[in-house]
Amino acid sequence: MKTIRIKDKTFAVSIPEEEILKQVKRVAEEINRDLAGRNPLFLAVLNGSFIFAADLLREVTVPCEISFVKLASYEGVSSTGAIKEVIGLAADITGRAVVIVEDIVDSGLTMVHMLDTLAKHNPASIDVCSLLVKPGNLKVSLDIKYKCLEIPNDFIVGYGLDYDGWGRNTRDIYTVVEE
Ligand code: 5GP
Ligand code: MG
Repeated sequence: MKTIRIKDKTFAVSIPEEEILKQVKRVAEEINRDLAGRNPLFLAVLNGSFIFAADLLREVTVPCEISFVKLASYEGVSSTGAIKEVIGLAADITGRAVVIVEDIVDSGLTMVHMLDTLAKHNPASIDVCSLLVKPGNLKVSLDIKYKCLEIPNDFIVGYGLDYDGWGRNTRDIYTVVEE
């Protein structure tokens, strides 16, 4: 089993690069079909989605634009948990077919808050495209139209996702090994 050590934890390969890229291509083909003629605007959520966004966009063949946003921790707590503020929305999304490009949907709270924030700018449509989804942890009803892979609730790193800032630069995705 191929393992790596990041800080105080050991991780083992759980999704090889080949499988990731196959699923990214499949999802891009769905987008190409669904959003033909709509000139979509992809909004990638930094930092975790940077590698996914780069691979996805190179499989998208419809005319499109991409812009990037970040989520900043917010001092408030909603009834359902800590929420994060969307910052850096430079693109005008009014009337656009927006596709949010996210690394992973866990509880879904971040995505719900982001959808609420973006909806205020009156886009023509907003779809969620997530590399990974942990269905076992979803706490809210959320329509994730485009998803590459569903995974168990364990903590993962690699392919853009980090453990405390480290481990984003691997080609495969790794799952933490309980020691
Ligand atoms: P949610 O609001 O859906 O619970 O949180 C989603 C965010 O939590 C993701 O964008 C990501 O930053 C972080 N996250 C959730 N699960 C994992 C995981 O297994 N690994 C890493 N690296 N980040 C995760
Ligand atoms: Mg994320």
